[in-house]
Amino acid sequence: MKIISINAGSSSLKFTLFEMDNEEVISSGVFERIGIEGSKYTIKYNGEKIEQEIELKDHTDAVKVLLEKLIDLNIIKSLDEIGGVGHRLVHGKDKYSKSVIITDEVIEDLENFRKFAPLHNPANVLGIKAFKEALGDVAMVGVFDTAFHQTMEKEAYLYPVPYKWYEEYGVRKYGFHGTSHRYIASSVKQILGREDFKLISCHIGNGGSICAIDNMKCVDTSMGFTPLAGIMMGTRSGDIDPSIIPYVMEKEGKNASEVVEDLNKVSGLLGLSEYSSDMRDILEKIDNQDEKALLAKKKYVRRVVDYIAQYYVLLGGVDVICFTAGVGENSVPVRKEICEALACLGVKIDLELNNKRGELVKLSTDDSKILVYVIPTDEELMIARDTMNLIQNR
Ligand code: ADP
Repeated sequence: MKIISINAGSSSLKFTLFEMDNEEVISSGVFERIGIEGSKYTIKYNGEKIEQEIELKDHTDAVKVLLEKLIDLNIIKSLDEIGGVGHRLVHGKDKYSKSVIITDEVIEDLENFRKFAPLHNPANVLGIKAFKEALGDVAMVGVFDTAFHQTMEKEAYLYPVPYKWYEEYGVRKYGFHGTSHRYIASSVKQILGREDFKLISCHIGNGGSICAIDNMKCVDTSMGFTPLAGIMMGTRSGDIDPSIIPYVMEKEGKNASEVVEDLNKVSGLLGLSEYSSDMRDILEKIDNQDEKALLAKKKYVRRVVDYIAQYYVLLGGVDVICFTAGVGENSVPVRKEICEALACLGVKIDLELNNKRGELVKLSTDDSKILVYVIPTDEELMIARDTMNLIQNR
């Protein structure tokens, strides 16, 4: 069966077409600048990359072009080959704890939850509607970023604020990157051949979150009510004292939204280094003895270590720590420093193996008390797997 995984943003649409018999990627690509001048698509197939500028008025246009191209390029012979479409959905609030077949009710909920993910949920709905228009009755599945974290207990997901904020306004920790953390947990299950392990999954990319997992279930996670919380990220601050917000509002004559925008867009690595949000640039600057870049990296590492330490205690010890996403999969010095800071927990890694990038590797030495792995994440595959399972078990 062939399944398409879709990740629709406000002006982009990424796709991956899988042959699920062997979980092979047949084709992938992205439609960019949808509804904006200069729109284009990139389609990868058979080791080739096809790029073309083309007018794309909206997501429906993008999906039409995508399906036409899949046939024109002989990637599929007919649309009937597509057994299902899986959509990455960002926010399912506390209603969705699992992936679901997309019905009118799901679409309505996404629209109703738009306040909780104003950039993402409307874009997700556009993606769903565009495929519905193009493929009619083909089964579609929604895979929520928030779903995996629904197993958290109240004392983990509630903030110590007036209870009414939770009851009446939905103020609570939702957590994000759930599909990635779930993929990491299922990969560890495959590696260890069992599921009764305690895992700390470190998804550290441009955005980043840490997740404490016990027996395949999320116990706690670092992102919160929004993806601004938790560890320091490329441009996001992560956790800060909220009183900073009114103080800076007064100092800079800004309103609350503007200061929150600064916390989202010009903080984190970018804010402290005053140079870049990209860890590669930061490491290069450090080679040139740049003090702010060095400080940014140190703070970044410290935030990750803080969360790992916290979750080590919460879980009552840990069997496995995993690194994934851009920094986790590729940044050799960041992994090394995080693991060095965890030496007191008995973490030991092989520095030779740590030089590898972007591949599955066991970093921990035989005498390490905790297994340490790098596992490249694959949210698209997780979405395709959920889609196939739900379609087959309907
Ligand atoms: P996103 O959260 O946008 O999906 P990614 O997971 O792709 O982000 O991570 C992007 C980040 O990964 C970049 O900003 C960069 O800091 C980091 N990164 C990617 N490759 C490397 C590398 N070779 N060395 C260090 N950092 C890297």
